[in-house]
Amino acid sequence: MTIALYPGSFDPITNGHIDIATRASKLFDKTVIGIFSTPEKHLTFSIEERVDLARRAVAHLPKVEVKPYTNITVDFAKQINAQVLVRGLRMISDFEWEFEMAMMNRMLSPGLETVCFMASQEFQFLSASLIKEVASLGGNISSLVPPHVAEALKKKGVSKA
Ligand code: ADP
Repeated sequence: MTIALYPGSFDPITNGHIDIATRASKLFDKTVIGIFSTPEKHLTFSIEERVDLARRAVAHLPKVEVKPYTNITVDFAKQINAQVLVRGLRMISDFEWEFEMAMMNRMLSPGLETVCFMASQEFQFLSASLIKEVASLGGNISSLVPPHVAEALKKKGVSKA
């Protein structure tokens, strides 16, 4: 059984993330969206909120689960018996960072393979931070996130639309 871990901060989950999880779930027996509790970035949503938003977003995908984690990603991968780390590549600019991380993770955990999915064209420009910026300026984000995420951004006062 091949288990894949798709780690990230998911603050909040976007249609781009959901696209990657959907495509990963076609290749692997189980895909776990791992939500890291304390990334080094300013967060809009708490870990509980990010998990809840992600769970609702992938409820229709039977082979996808959402789990929070607090330790280093490679240790969490071991904990859940994942053999694969899934990441998404949007632009060339993502590549450098993803490559560095993949090398570091391979050094830390030699058996763990990183598999990068190319972003789908319609989501190539999508990032959680850009969505929050657009929402805060009153832009329409309804085609970029599921309705419950748009609602949560409104409740948080991020979205002025
Ligand atoms: P991190 O804090 O680890 O960058 P993110 O939640 O921002 O976490 O992203 C997790 C992964 O999803 C990263 O590999 C990122 O490149 C990828 N990703 C983010 N947005 C998209 C998108 N629109 N299309 C494809 N992959 C994406």
